[in-house]
Amino acid sequence: MSDCIFCKIASGEIPVDKLIDDEDVVAFRDLNPQAPEHILIIPRQHLERLAHADESHSDLIGKLILAANKLAKKLKLDESGYRLVINNGESAGQSVWHLHLHLLGGRDFNWPPG
Ligand code: AMP
Repeated sequence: MSDCIFCKIASGEIPVDKLIDDEDVVAFRDLNPQAPEHILIIPRQHLERLAHADESHSDLIGKLILAANKLAKKLKLDESGYRLVINNGESAGQSVWHLHLHLLGGRDFNWPPG
């Protein structure tokens, strides 16, 4: 997708520091962090939203979650706790139309979320 900002980040057209940069998954810090650690984990493949995923994406979705797990360990969030968020669609607050997981940590979180 030529006008997708996360595709541009994944391809390197927009340079960012990448915490993960492998064949399928890219991770980088959120521009507007909502917690001391706020990382976005995206598939290299453009997928507009989680609701568009199907059986053919099951490996990819697994890789995204395991990438979050790995990063949380690296950032030493695994013991204290962390939150993974996927906003799907406008009502959920999705603002970038390329599937992404938010990995949030380094503070306590409320439940239910706002
Ligand atoms: P969502 O609201 O779930 O779609 O989340 C999109 C997130 O992308 C927001 O938290 C933004 O702060 C973040 N974001 C948008 N553009 C960039 C960018 N160029 N680099 C890093 N994070 C970004």
